[in-house]
Amino acid sequence: MISPADRARPQATCRACGGTVVQFLDLGRQPLSDRFLTEPEIPQEYFFQLAVGLCETCTMVQLMQEVPRERMFHEDYPYYSSGSAVMQKHFADTARHLLETEAGGPDPFVVEIGCNDGVMLRTVHEAGVRHLGFEPSGKVAEAARAKGLRVRGDFFEESTAREVRASDGPADVIFAANTICHIPYLDSILRGVDALLGPDGVFVFEDPYLGDILAKTSFDQIYDEHFFLFSARSVQALAASFGFELVDVDRLAVHGGEVRYTLARAGARRPADRVAALIAEEDAGGVATLARLDQFAAQVGRIRDDLRALLERLTAEGKRVVAYGATAKSATVANFCGIGPDLVSRVYDTTPAKQGRLTPGTHIPVHPASEFPTDPPDYALLFAWNHADEIMAKEQAFRQAGGAWILYVPHVHVRD
Ligand SMILES: [Zn+2]
Repeated sequence: MISPADRARPQATCRACGGTVVQFLDLGRQPLSDRFLTEPEIPQEYFFQLAVGLCETCTMVQLMQEVPRERMFHEDYPYYSSGSAVMQKHFADTARHLLETEAGGPDPFVVEIGCNDGVMLRTVHEAGVRHLGFEPSGKVAEAARAKGLRVRGDFFEESTAREVRASDGPADVIFAANTICHIPYLDSILRGVDALLGPDGVFVFEDPYLGDILAKTSFDQIYDEHFFLFSARSVQALAASFGFELVDVDRLAVHGGEVRYTLARAGARRPADRVAALIAEEDAGGVATLARLDQFAAQVGRIRDDLRALLERLTAEGKRVVAYGATAKSATVANFCGIGPDLVSRVYDTTPAKQGRLTPGTHIPVHPASEFPTDPPDYALLFAWNHADEIMAKEQAFRQAGGAWILYVPHVHVRD
């Protein structure tokens, strides 16, 4: 229930259950996190208010305002899942696990929602298993087709799911990684899953986990594309309202901490013990309470103050400071903390589509990561902190030459 004091907070309608969402964190005016710009595009740049709230009914944590999906997942959407060796291995392992446990029938059918460049489905394809990917972002879908994969260039929703059911029959597995949390119209997704999934099939999705976001104060997991921040309790409530049941949860180390949720039709499978265990852990930590979320918001404000103070001091001392990893999540940090080219001269990134452009909102020039070792700075702000081990191993010469990394999760610190 909303207390009288909380009634003054901004409210919205829950996209999962229709209840009341109460705001606990405002990250200010933000651009589209993956919209890298050229100089002439700056005057037309799109901004929206990035704020987050908690549903008092189903405990789903979600953005207060929705960005139209066509603005986010467009022809030039620049994120390619295959860009990281760690993620390639993760998705090859995931595909093998799904094939072993869920695709044992005579002619199994695996569907992926948001298949990106095919990093998961290629393993399914190589195993000779029938598959279909949905991918509305033009160029990444092309990259998947170039691997020989079957891809529909549509959004997955009730109508498109029904078409696939009619042409291909029921799916044994419907999988999605870092996609379901992007989609405000969850009702259409779940009705689509209901239409397409076979009676014993599973809907498996992995997304950033609210419990990890709170534990690490990783507020940069909050951006336009991450509409929902899931917990086991909120996913359990969501599943139940569409005739499904949360039957397994698997904690994953990727992307700074995720959970892989497995949904089956209600009553079809006995839930694993770890479902109740994770929900008990969430309840003990107050994950879905305004008191805990307000504490998180205060910690986020402290990170902003500390990071700005550090960068301003280094700049005043004449140090050369750059950033590493022009990730979508870094847009939240740079814009919330006010980090532009005056504090960080450039950001290095491995994605060709981002290079030669400016970061969203704060307009820091993006340079190829291959140039980083040839012109070493004094400090590098590690925006891609979730790939810290991989990047620090690759760029070990930087620290050997006296350079230092700046990290801001779970608090601001320097690693030299
Ligand atoms: Zn709700």
